[in-house]
Amino acid sequence: MNKTGQFIKDHDFPCWCGQSESRVICGQVFGRRPFLVLECAGCQTHRILPKALQTQASAEVMYNEYEPPDLSAPASEQFINNMWQRFGETQVQFTKGLKVLDVGCGNGILLDKICEKFGCIGRGIDVDERRIAKARAHSKYADFECGLFEGTKVREKYDVVVSSAVIEHVVDPVGFLKQLNMALPDDGTLFLLTPNARSLTYRLLRSWWRDLLSIGEHIYLFTPKSLELCAQRAGFKLVKTSFGIDKFSPKIRVNGFRDALITFWTVYREMVKRVSSRFAFATTHDILYAHFKKVGSGA
Ligand SMILES: [Zn+2]
Repeated sequence: MNKTGQFIKDHDFPCWCGQSESRVICGQVFGRRPFLVLECAGCQTHRILPKALQTQASAEVMYNEYEPPDLSAPASEQFINNMWQRFGETQVQFTKGLKVLDVGCGNGILLDKICEKFGCIGRGIDVDERRIAKARAHSKYADFECGLFEGTKVREKYDVVVSSAVIEHVVDPVGFLKQLNMALPDDGTLFLLTPNARSLTYRLLRSWWRDLLSIGEHIYLFTPKSLELCAQRAGFKLVKTSFGIDKFSPKIRVNGFRDALITFWTVYREMVKRVSSRFAFATTHDILYAHFKKVGSGA
C-alpha cells in the first residue's frame, strides 16, 4: 500500500451523511504535519484527515489551549459591515425585541452590534472562556455563557439563531443543527456561515488554501448543496444562499526564502481572490452563508 493509502486507512472516518466512499482532493502525507482532504462521493462535503476532534466535548479543551488573536478595530468594523451585507443578501431580518442566539459567538462583537443596531435581545455562547470573558467585559447589550450549546437545556425559544464559522469545526453537523433546531419555534430563522468548498480560490490553491482549510481545526468543508442537505436532515428548509470573500491586506515580509515563499503565495492568493470576486458566479467566492427556516411540525 502506498503512503496515501496507508494514511487514509489510519485516519479516515465516514462523512456526516453516512457515506464512506471518497476521492482525494489535496493534502500531503509527508512532512511535519501530514493531512489529506477527501471529497465524499455521496454529498460532496470535503473532510479533513486526521479528524481535528474525536468528540465534541473535547472542543472545550482544544479551543481553550491557545489564545486566538483579536481583530484590530478597523478589521472589526469591516467584519461587522460584511455581516450586515450578508444578512441583507440572505434576507435575514432583525427587528426590535427579537430574541437572538449566537452559537460560537467568540468575543461577542457581532451579537452586541445586532442588539445595539436593531434593539434585539441577545444571548451568546462559546466554548472559549477567554473570549467569553472579553464579551462580558465589552458588551453593553447582550448576555453570554461559556460552554457547548445544548438545545435540550433551552427553556425559552429564540427567534433567530446565528452560527458563524462553527459548523466546519463540529464532529456531528446534523446533530449540531438538531440542537439549534430545538432553540427555535416553527419558521424560526437560522443563519449559517462557513468556508465554501466550491470556491475557485480553493480549487486553484488546494492545500495552500490554508486560512480556510485550517488544518487541525476544521473537520468538514461544505458545498452550498451539501450544507442545504445537512440542514434538511436537521429539520430546516433553505430560504437563500449567498457568497462572499474576506478581503485582507497581505503583509509583505522579506527575511529569507521561507518568507519570500509565503509572501509569494499570499500575494498570489489575494490576486486570485480579488479577480474571482469580480465574476458573478457564486462558486467563485470563499465563504458561503445561508438563511434557513425551521420546518413547522404541520408542514
Ligand atoms: Zn457525505
